[in-house]
Amino acid sequence: MIESLKRRPVEKRPDQVRLSGRVLFLVDDADLIRRQLAGEDLPNPPDAPLRDNISTDEITPAYICYYYDETLGEFPYLGLKAGNEFPITRGSVKQGGFVCSVSGKRRGKGSSREQSPYAEMCAGIRLVIAENIERIYGENCQNLGVLTSTDFGLIDKVRAGEAIPLAVFTEGVGDITRGIIEYGGLFQYNVARLQGKVTVPAVTTPKRPMTIGEKILARHWVTDLASNAVGVPYVRPGDEGFVRTDIRFSHEYVTPMSAIFWRDNVGEHEKVVDPESIFFFRDHLTFLELAMTDERKAAGLLDVALELKKKQEDFAEQQGIRLYGELRRLQGRMGLPSGSEAICHSKILESHALPGQLIIGSDSHTPHAGALGTVAFGVGTTAIFNSWLTKDVRLKVPPTVLIKVNGPKPAGITAKDFMLHILRQPYVRDGRAIGKIVEYAGEAVEALSIDERATMTNMAAEVGAFTGLIAPDEKAVEYLVRERGADPAEMRRLLDGLFSDPGAEYEEVIELDASELEPLVALPGDPGNGVAIGELGRQVKIDIAYAGSCTAGKKSDMDMYAAVFKSALERGEHVHSDVQCFVQCGSQEVKRYCEEMGYLDVFKQVGAVFIEPSCGACINAGPGVSYDKDTVTISAINRNFPGRSGPGQLYLASPYTTAASAIAGYITAWEPDSVPAGVS
Ligand code: SF4
Repeated sequence: MIESLKRRPVEKRPDQVRLSGRVLFLVDDADLIRRQLAGEDLPNPPDAPLRDNISTDEITPAYICYYYDETLGEFPYLGLKAGNEFPITRGSVKQGGFVCSVSGKRRGKGSSREQSPYAEMCAGIRLVIAENIERIYGENCQNLGVLTSTDFGLIDKVRAGEAIPLAVFTEGVGDITRGIIEYGGLFQYNVARLQGKVTVPAVTTPKRPMTIGEKILARHWVTDLASNAVGVPYVRPGDEGFVRTDIRFSHEYVTPMSAIFWRDNVGEHEKVVDPESIFFFRDHLTFLELAMTDERKAAGLLDVALELKKKQEDFAEQQGIRLYGELRRLQGRMGLPSGSEAICHSKILESHALPGQLIIGSDSHTPHAGALGTVAFGVGTTAIFNSWLTKDVRLKVPPTVLIKVNGPKPAGITAKDFMLHILRQPYVRDGRAIGKIVEYAGEAVEALSIDERATMTNMAAEVGAFTGLIAPDEKAVEYLVRERGADPAEMRRLLDGLFSDPGAEYEEVIELDASELEPLVALPGDPGNGVAIGELGRQVKIDIAYAGSCTAGKKSDMDMYAAVFKSALERGEHVHSDVQCFVQCGSQEVKRYCEEMGYLDVFKQVGAVFIEPSCGACINAGPGVSYDKDTVTISAINRNFPGRSGPGQLYLASPYTTAASAIAGYITAWEPDSVPAGVS
């Protein structure tokens, strides 16, 4: 334990809180918002409807998240739409002296970015009132110490400067959440834990059959932080506590803000706990300058974004943490960016994750590593920062959903096709899998390589799941031996007990028949818009084919692109003259594989542009993004929400379909003579 924290004074908030400041009503009327910013206090209730569905994208648009410190306080609600206008300008909320922000239904929906409540907090907001509050946004508020409530009666109390009992904000929540609210945030609560001032309630779940996910959580359950004791025999859905992590990782969008929290709360010269099990990645924004608009560059946003890189590098060096960084800019390319060592998920799977581990990452696609039978999940900035201190993370055991794909896997049908089919199932489309553990099983899933399994677990994020995983088997052992030179006997020992018990409890079992699967594409707008290619009803011409990302930049994905392109070359065909085709691998390891297999030559000969690893176009920050709304892209990435990869229309598809469409010039499935080795 960090010695200075033992002596750090830490107290609960007083039983009564008094909030002094103004109340900002986020209404669907731009003029009324402007009048509040100019100093007018609206009546309660105001004369216009409160805005519903305020997403975190509206609170802090993605480009605002290039800021990582108190500067964020200049920007809350910059993307907030009222009527057809965006009435909130830089600095206006902070200058307005607001302490309470009020809106309607579903406050904080969408991305889990913690920059949103942090921007509000830095602008002076201490209380958020809404009809209902989205789970992750609400947790992020709690972790930061921002109070939340659905009680509109508090508005008049705030205005009158009345004391409000703290119990109003803790009513009906679990013990840990109550403690976090009472101590004013997760960090303060954890300091109290480290000092033995709070005791996390013990889990006393009796003997029961468990799913593999529950077993891994039970093995990692923290029973005593001070003595480093972990492990309980059983857990069940609803049990609340902390779980010990084996790996913690973050990328440049999150590390700098966590580092600021570390500096401000723990101390610049204090060392993180167990730095060997922490990894940083410079992967999201290495190609940003090739994709950012001139307007944003002129506004200085590129310089701000580059600060993220530097801040992460400095903290990694100071703490002795392994950073998978940006490649050196090559002279021959006139100092243009050269990509990164690896995308975080690709590297964690390739080189670090082991069956049975518990992994957290600052990214929603962290379940990628579930392909090896890990429980891996995404967390926010404050949770990452606290995990540097305690090595654990708070959670409530989620229920498990079993998705079985029965029967032999049809040739030429890929994990991406499985997922596009799963995402269109009513249970998933209706959001009932949100926050659950998704366990994939069945003969067709077992037939997949580890790389292909990772496509399924990665896209547990699109399902909305807490995590996705597949019970590890001999294929996992072979993968670890082949990719890392691991000792097979040792790897087999890791598999011990890593299966779901007969009689384990599933909230839902979804059974799919593999023989009914066919190549699918998701229509623009949502990964759940999957249709068979034959159902498109017309020939959809494409302008861009993008073959990359963590989901589709693995060795098996390269096998698929290369198989399609080789057969095209044998027929004398190339990438269609109307199409720009990009292949981008997930790591240098995958690039080396492409070199060994001769794929780089194949990509070049067929007319595809090969790009060094990075998230790039997948996050609207690199070659392959669209530049106008009419541009049509076929892409093997994992999500196609509006604007995800530029303003155009983005269809999601498998690596085979993406490559075949690049050759044809329109969306088409690949008709394989045979499936390449390593894919089926
Ligand atoms: S490649 Fe795309 S989905 Fe994967 S980590 Fe990067 S931005 Fe996220």
